[in-house]
Amino acid sequence: MSSAYDCLVIGCGFAGAVIGRELAERAGKKVLIIEKRSHIGGNAYDFTNNDGILLHKYGPHIFHTNFKRVFDYLSRFTQWRDYSHEVLANVYGRLIPVPFNLNSLYMTFEPHKAKKVEEKLIFTFGLNKKVTIGELKAQTDDDLVELADYVYKNIFLYYTQKQWGTSPEHVDPSVTARVPILISHDNRYFQDTYQGMPANGYTSLFENILNHPDITLLLNYDAVSHIKMKDDKVFLDDEEFTGTIIYTGAIDELFSCCFGPLPYRTLDFEFETHDVEWYQEKGTINYTVDMPYTRITEFKHLTGQVLSNRTVIMKEYPGEYTGKNGQIPYYAILNNKNVELYQKYKQRTDSLNDFHLLGRLAEYKYYNMDAIVERALALADQLCCKEGKE
Ligand code: FAD
Ligand code: UDP
Repeated sequence: MSSAYDCLVIGCGFAGAVIGRELAERAGKKVLIIEKRSHIGGNAYDFTNNDGILLHKYGPHIFHTNFKRVFDYLSRFTQWRDYSHEVLANVYGRLIPVPFNLNSLYMTFEPHKAKKVEEKLIFTFGLNKKVTIGELKAQTDDDLVELADYVYKNIFLYYTQKQWGTSPEHVDPSVTARVPILISHDNRYFQDTYQGMPANGYTSLFENILNHPDITLLLNYDAVSHIKMKDDKVFLDDEEFTGTIIYTGAIDELFSCCFGPLPYRTLDFEFETHDVEWYQEKGTINYTVDMPYTRITEFKHLTGQVLSNRTVIMKEYPGEYTGKNGQIPYYAILNNKNVELYQKYKQRTDSLNDFHLLGRLAEYKYYNMDAIVERALALADQLCCKEGKE
């Protein structure tokens, strides 16, 4: 089988699908994509349930980007539903916008105090600026210290303990920086230039990306059982594969976890159907001071579906990834020790010819969908350029 293909892609999430399409289309390669799950789309996969409600199997996915190239590229394969995600935090029954912003401030403190704090925030950081919880906590002004304490305790502390099994101080600062304090009245979760949902869902978007005569897709095909590495050579079902290889799975699995498993956090998703038109007022409510789950998402807000008598919500329960019971490694745990371990695995791939690591798992990074697409397009540029096929 190997000799029939110029390029082998392992995994069919955004990384695998986009690089596969680019190599088939721009470089004229015959591409084989193998995927261990029974479906395409990786963690962005969605499906329609018996009530006709579009659901995200692996957690809510909202598209947002500042990369025009990425938005234009994906727009070849989908139309968009105009949607800006909004999130509320449930703080002892009071629902306030997250990221914590000036509206949240006025909902939390009495007006006179809120006004004073607002002025100090604007004076210190500037209107429309984003401030991390770390930067806010470093302030010495009494009012800003009080605000930092409130936001830390009521927005970050318990949610982060649930999500990461440790307090915010012990997670990489880039993680909590994803949700800054916003010195503005903008209630959107993301401020990116382009945001929305694929009009017919992600799976349809993937079907369109993969719809190319030179792409062959094998589902239920696990690289762990079908790929072997020996003397810097890669074998697919015992036949050496000499073409380009793009690997988008977990890098430690490729080497049988020989240096020890890379740590991840996983999630359990619990779907509930409710016989009401709406369950909650916004797409996602974060439970930042209580409950064992981190957030509840109601999909109809995201998809815009109109169904008057029924709705589906999802609760997310984080936990430690053990690699057992079909668990999925969702989040790399970024710290020096883990990154060093990752580098050991990566070095093992350096001597392989035309072998490329791409994606959230293969690169052990906390990438959003747009960042993966951007990286896949950049890798395609590099590979096409090498071949003189620009
Ligand atoms: P994946 O989607 O994980 O795809 C990798 C694929 O490789 C999978 O299909 C897997 O089955 C396959 N694979 C792995 N190992 C093997 C093997 N041995 N053999 C064959 N196939 C294999 N991003 C956003 O931009 N917006 C959001 O709102 C958002 N929400 C998220 C919510 C959650 C709960 C999570 C976990 C992530 C979210 N993301 C979001 C991030 C987004 O899921 C990732 O950026 C994106 O899925 C990464 O694409 P990928 O191709 O690198 O990885
Ligand atoms: N976070 C938090 N409280 C919130 C939202 C986020 O403490 O209400 C922290 C938490 O540590 C989380 C991180 O910010 O893991 C990033 O949040 P984001 O919503 O970006 O996470 P994702 O959607 O990727 O799971």
